[in-house]
Amino acid sequence: MLSDLLGAFFTTFRRLGDAVRRPEAFVFLPALTLAAFWLGGEQNLILIALGAPLLFAISGAVRRVPPPAPRWDVLDGLSRRAQIVGSIDATLRESHLSGHTTACLVLQFDDADRIVDQHGRAAQTEVLARSAERICASLRLGDVVARLEGGGFAVALAPVRRLDVETVVQVAARLQSALSAPISLNATRIYVTCAIGFCLGFRAPQAAGSSLLNAAQIAADEALRQGPGAIRSFSEDMAATRADRNALRIELEHALDEGQIRPHFQPQISTHTGAISGFEALARWYHPDKGLISPAEFLPMIEDAGLSERLGEVILYHALTALVRWDRAGLNVPTVAVNFSSSELRNPRLAEKLKWEMDRFGLQPKRLSVEVLENVVAQTDSDIIVANIAALAKLGCGIDLDDFGTGHASITSIRRFALRRIKIDRSFVAKLDEDREQQKMVAAILSMAERLGLETLAEGVETPGEHAMLSQLGCGDVQGFGIARPMPVDETMDWIARHRLKLGTIPRIGSRAQ
Ligand code: C2E
Ligand code: CA
Ligand code: CA
Repeated sequence: MLSDLLGAFFTTFRRLGDAVRRPEAFVFLPALTLAAFWLGGEQNLILIALGAPLLFAISGAVRRVPPPAPRWDVLDGLSRRAQIVGSIDATLRESHLSGHTTACLVLQFDDADRIVDQHGRAAQTEVLARSAERICASLRLGDVVARLEGGGFAVALAPVRRLDVETVVQVAARLQSALSAPISLNATRIYVTCAIGFCLGFRAPQAAGSSLLNAAQIAADEALRQGPGAIRSFSEDMAATRADRNALRIELEHALDEGQIRPHFQPQISTHTGAISGFEALARWYHPDKGLISPAEFLPMIEDAGLSERLGEVILYHALTALVRWDRAGLNVPTVAVNFSSSELRNPRLAEKLKWEMDRFGLQPKRLSVEVLENVVAQTDSDIIVANIAALAKLGCGIDLDDFGTGHASITSIRRFALRRIKIDRSFVAKLDEDREQQKMVAAILSMAERLGLETLAEGVETPGEHAMLSQLGCGDVQGFGIARPMPVDETMDWIARHRLKLGTIPRIGSRAQ
């Protein structure tokens, strides 16, 4: 009984304390002071005037201002997907009563890989935290910001009576401009840009938070594809394109798993001896309905679907298997060349992975030529790519610079990589025997390579005339339809045998006097 009474007393006291601590309680203070004076005279006036602040202090209303939160809390403090979905759900549910609507925006950083490559993961977290601050500072009270799993942000605008595409584009542009100022970090300035996709509340495929966020995400992916700083509004056909792309991704994954994608091999031969110096593995898709599909058609889809690494693994496996087959047949093929995409070259464990693969097949690393496109070397400011190529060269693999002459690599960038050979692009080889200008270009490239101590190979050699001219100019190796088209591994066996036979019977093409 007594404990009940005491309990009720403390509860009432706590509630009173809570009520007194609320800022609204201050509104009543002048009225209370006046009433005290009227009813009880000067004494009560003094009692209330001095007692009230004392009561506030005792009840804990006057508190120390908490220290500012560390910056990481900015990210931790943001909503997550579930919360923003809940908030949009609530707005959409009430929209037919309130007449208010919302829009959802998704921000994704252009070139997010570059930030990690150049500055590391810690810098990426810092960039996210600073960006979160800037986004929050450019929005209005009531807008909700959430961080998304992939490193982007989602924004749900506070409910408003009217919202159109132009208004949301303006909000998007404001967010982009807030993020465009450089971020100073460890004495460097990091510039970021972002792509933004959005969807208006009434345009969502379904009137649900998840549907609106999903639509904004689809629009953001589309914006990211368009290039730096793009803004896209969601439309129905984007969803259809995405569905097609997903279907294609599933089809490609299946094709890779089922062995529908495997390489053909094109020989590379020495202009000096005519002997085979290697084979290049070139991917082909044996499509069950559409027949043979060339890499020009499906490589962009592989990139798009994020399957480049998987393709690389498949081609490497077939290339090393072919080497072992040639060895077992006593065919003396020194190397096999594999094309590496820039996303494969970004894998920090690439050298380790390759070493493991070569060991597994019992092959020395020098038997593998790693082909890297000239434009990857020319454009790269990625420390990982530079380190990877150095590690592969150290391992003993030969590094070949593919499509040389098309990618504008500077001499400095060529020197930066431990290259073994340059592959002169087909465009310099076409009509070489008839065109003096072409000859001058190729001669210049060859003499530069010689000075730099690099071997040379000319690609796309189609005619005996081109072959002979390359030989005369002093190019080391040749590859092209004029020697052989890329062929399945089974056919290489016969081809090698025939080529050897031919070598024994025909005189060599004359080479430049040394
Ligand atoms: P690339 O590395 O420059 O390969 C040479 C391309 O030229 C091949 O086309 C080959 O079939 C073609 N070619 C060879 N000789 C001649 C010739 O005398 N005349 C003409 N007109 N063309 C010739 P393909 O096989 O269609 O490959 C196209 C490109 O796709 C390759 O160019 C390479 O960049 C890329 N690629 C192929 N396989 C792979 C792969 O497994 N991984 C990666 N990342 N890229 C690959
Ligand atoms: Ca190549
Ligand atoms: Ca090439």
